[in-house]
Amino acid sequence: MLAYAAGAIPISYLGDFFLIYFISDLHLTPKDTALTQQFRVFIDQLTSADSLYILGDLFEYWLGDDTAKYLGQQSIETDLRQLTDRGVEVFFLRGNRDFLVGLDFCARTGCCLLPEQHILTNTTTPILLLHGDSLCTEDTEHQAFRLLVRNDTWQSDFLARSIVERDTMARAVRYRSESGKRIKPADIMDVNPETVFEKMRGAKVRLMIHGHTHRPAIHRLEDERTGPMVRIVLGDWGPTPSFAKLDGSSLELWCGDDANRITLS
Ligand code: MN
Repeated sequence: MLAYAAGAIPISYLGDFFLIYFISDLHLTPKDTALTQQFRVFIDQLTSADSLYILGDLFEYWLGDDTAKYLGQQSIETDLRQLTDRGVEVFFLRGNRDFLVGLDFCARTGCCLLPEQHILTNTTTPILLLHGDSLCTEDTEHQAFRLLVRNDTWQSDFLARSIVERDTMARAVRYRSESGKRIKPADIMDVNPETVFEKMRGAKVRLMIHGHTHRPAIHRLEDERTGPMVRIVLGDWGPTPSFAKLDGSSLELWCGDDANRITLS
């Protein structure tokens, strides 16, 4: 448990319900100590009544659970362990950068691994959670890559290689995708509206939360078949954190000092 100064009431306790936080796209790397420090400050504020959903790309990249030390990410694992030891439930849904996070990481940190799509049901309305890259179906190059690397055989083959070899392969892919980003039109990098509707209809939900696109917003949508829907996009972490906070039926999307709020029904 966190120790609070006498008389101080943790903000979380001001709500009627336990709080659920959602974050994504921190892209933590040991090179960016300020960002890592931001993450620490953020998780230090969570209390044992809270849950934290990490919706992918917590890490800039991840080469397998045996590479935490090599990648300089052991301190993040320790931070997560301390967080879960304090009683905060932490769920990890993998992104396109950290899709190789696995059960060993979860055993060390106490995080609970989620499948690539997860429906939260202990909320006012069911919420579909996903990283978001599967919604960007117009980026056919990324979809082909996604299909390849999410394949079990590809993953076990990759993880059987030496760490240095894995790193070399990953660097080549990152180099290609970074240079690809510069030439791809911005629209291709965003979600495809029809894919969004398909996912929500398929999951029978009216609310979805995802990250990946780094375009934080609350989108109110009208599906011609099923009516109003909401898509919440988490922001990436720049100089300030970005997160969504669910307090009962009130959902806030924070980006730095800016907050947008919707009421769920
Ligand atoms: Mn991503």
